[in-house]
Amino acid sequence: MYNILAIAGDGIGPEVMDAAKSVLGWFSQNRGLAFRIEDALLGGVAFETVGRPDPDETIEKAKAADAVFLGAVGGPKWDQLPFSQRPERGLLRIRKDMGTFANLRPALCFDALKDASTLKPEIVSGLDILIVRELMGGVYFGEPKEITDLPDGQKRAVDTQVYTTSEIERIARVAFELARVRRNAVASAEKANAMVTGTLWRQTVTKLHASEYSDVKLSHILADSCAMQLVRNPKQFDVIVTDNLFGDVLSDEAAQLTGSIGMLPSASLGARTGKQQLGLYEPIHGSAPDIAGKNLANPIAMILSVAMCLRYSFGRQTDAELLEKTIDRVLSEGYRTSDIMQPGMTKLGTAEMTNAILRALSALSSK
Ligand code: NAD
Repeated sequence: MYNILAIAGDGIGPEVMDAAKSVLGWFSQNRGLAFRIEDALLGGVAFETVGRPDPDETIEKAKAADAVFLGAVGGPKWDQLPFSQRPERGLLRIRKDMGTFANLRPALCFDALKDASTLKPEIVSGLDILIVRELMGGVYFGEPKEITDLPDGQKRAVDTQVYTTSEIERIARVAFELARVRRNAVASAEKANAMVTGTLWRQTVTKLHASEYSDVKLSHILADSCAMQLVRNPKQFDVIVTDNLFGDVLSDEAAQLTGSIGMLPSASLGARTGKQQLGLYEPIHGSAPDIAGKNLANPIAMILSVAMCLRYSFGRQTDAELLEKTIDRVLSEGYRTSDIMQPGMTKLGTAEMTNAILRALSALSSK
């Protein structure tokens, strides 16, 4: 029995979370998996209900769960609040308190959608790369982090980029392990030419590779060159491992390669204890207030997050692949939500796309 915490959040969050729950329901009915799903509040809806965006109760339940699903938080209604009360505060706290230091973002181009990318179809067709971003260190957290007044009336702002050997080692280890079950290649991206954190990053990754992962192909690439290569020839990459700041930028760039934000899942993983892998699974899109409550949201990013959970937290590789193949099948049959709609295809709403995926799951698994 797996205990799942479902945090629907704001905007389209509840709609895509319903889709995830239906898919989990299918797996419990058809593939012998048992789930206990509990709902919890975070973000704007938590602020409205209990007066804060990051209720302790939700955080404690998240830490105790086998896996956490998160829809999305935020919306214009809460934009004017001080940061401590804003929905995003809930997001940052849950990631931090769960200790999820590795953010995994696949950029996978389904064949049926290769024409939806802004890049040429031959550049993105068959694309399958994984960005592993360090999530708990680096310049977003380093101290000092401040704006001070200078005697001459100017202001001076400082962010601090900091990494320790152990922080670099633990994220590199995640990348090497994942590469071993993919195409066995890691590209480590930093700025060793201009930053001492980059120098330490490169030295640490090289040393870990030599001592424990020499079977994996390792290359080092400057982060700016990596950004360029991602649009020039993205299929050269398998796993890219990088720090918090570069990972933020490179993973958004990689996401864009595949066409739509409504298609992209993510996993944030913490430490592994025995067989248990702590994980927070969420689509990369936000709460999309412009389409919320209209049955227009694409549920595929959230459903692919379920596939990531099956793979990384529950060790169900075959089930994860079944779900991914099913989505591929539904897209090749011409079904689309409005964000990925193309001429001649059949437009479906959130609930109808979810049903099409459930039907295709049953059809594919009975083969
Ligand atoms: P967004 O991702 O919510 O929306 C960007 C555009 O993409 C919109 O036009 C939206 O309609 C569309 N879109 C997003 N997801 C879609 C889906 N599943 N199906 C179809 N179309 C989809 O980004 P934004 O507009 O910059 O942010 C809106 C709110 O979400 C803000 O409050 C922001 O802070 C928050 N946000 C939350 C998260 C999160 O919870 N992880 C991430 C990003 C933004």
